[in-house]
Amino acid sequence: MFSALKPLPTDPILGLMAAFKQDTNPNKIDLGVGVYKDEQGNTPVLRAVKKAEAFRLENETTKSYIGLAGNLDFCQKMESLLLGEHKALLANRVRTAQTPGGTGSLRVAAEFIKRCNTNATVWVTTPTWANHISLFEAAGLGVKEYPYYDYENKDLLFNEMIDTLKSVSKGDVVLIHACCHNPSGMDLNAEQWEVFAELAKDVGFTVLVDIAYQGFGTSLDADAAGLRLLADTVDELIICSSCSKNFGLYRERVGACSIISENAATADVSNSVLLSVVRSIYSMPPAHGADIVATILGSNELTQEWHQELDEMRGRINEFRGLIKTRLAEAGVEQDFSFIERQHGMFSFLGLNKEQIERLKTEYAIYMVGSSRVNVAGISHGNMDYFVNAMVNVLK
Ligand code: PMP
Repeated sequence: MFSALKPLPTDPILGLMAAFKQDTNPNKIDLGVGVYKDEQGNTPVLRAVKKAEAFRLENETTKSYIGLAGNLDFCQKMESLLLGEHKALLANRVRTAQTPGGTGSLRVAAEFIKRCNTNATVWVTTPTWANHISLFEAAGLGVKEYPYYDYENKDLLFNEMIDTLKSVSKGDVVLIHACCHNPSGMDLNAEQWEVFAELAKDVGFTVLVDIAYQGFGTSLDADAAGLRLLADTVDELIICSSCSKNFGLYRERVGACSIISENAATADVSNSVLLSVVRSIYSMPPAHGADIVATILGSNELTQEWHQELDEMRGRINEFRGLIKTRLAEAGVEQDFSFIERQHGMFSFLGLNKEQIERLKTEYAIYMVGSSRVNVAGISHGNMDYFVNAMVNVLK
């Protein structure tokens, strides 16, 4: 049976990771992989996480199954983190399932959408996180793209985006990134969120908000402001969240899928479908990571420590966004890199061509994906001079 299979190409980012690992250049820099890195190039376990883990080791009393929705305390705390004290929560219109990471949440959402409308198309931004497309297609949904990033002017194609979305069908879903757009770093401003939310209400499509970087852009609340505005405006919403980045829990696979319905009764119906979807995919999520998050958010002391660590991570990313712009300008690079400072989160497109990307890799051991998307957190005080010098040479 297996002889019918054809080998598939490796994911370009995994290939890049392997090539980086093998590179013996002592100055090599990895700007490809989408994980936060500190000044030393490490992705450390957060202190608040370590403490919550120690507490859990001491206090865990059973390894018996948790339910389909996972840790209910975690689910409730995630709802507050995402929505604050939103009226949808007060009206008991939100239901949440803990999921294996943000990816698990998106897959659950895809199956949920399919149960609502087998013929639904999911509209994603051009460009978007590549896995969005494969994930929705794998669930048997149609995928279409709407204009989002203007590579030429390093800005949003907002008017084009709105024009395209005006013609989306009522039974379709529009996926939008809440903050720190992956891969462009380009987010909607407050006014644009308002226009988008009104459009969703008027046209009647359903919005899926992917929030994988809450706290990495401006602040925990500011990064969820667009999401909350949407929840103010429309009756139904799907929210896919991830704790991979903001809690640094990548490999523990922690995320959540939250469904906001029109009223408490329809929310119960949505919940029954949500849980049935979960049951048919993985039955129940893993316990460890969600327990850590619930422990942190349940303790003032640990929450404060987590906020500090999140501020440090965001501070470092934003510091280097500013530094890249300034240092390239000081080094005499003619191209304008000020867009890097206007964007949010870990990613930006440097706007380099294939030849320049290849030269950075072969001559300088600086690795980035073929679109010239870089992870800003890969730059440090230690490698900044080397990076600037390499950029000056390939941009000449
Ligand atoms: N959505 C976006 C936009 C992402 O960038 C990512 C991770 N790269 C995810 C979802 C999934 O995150 P997780 O690792 O929690 O599955």
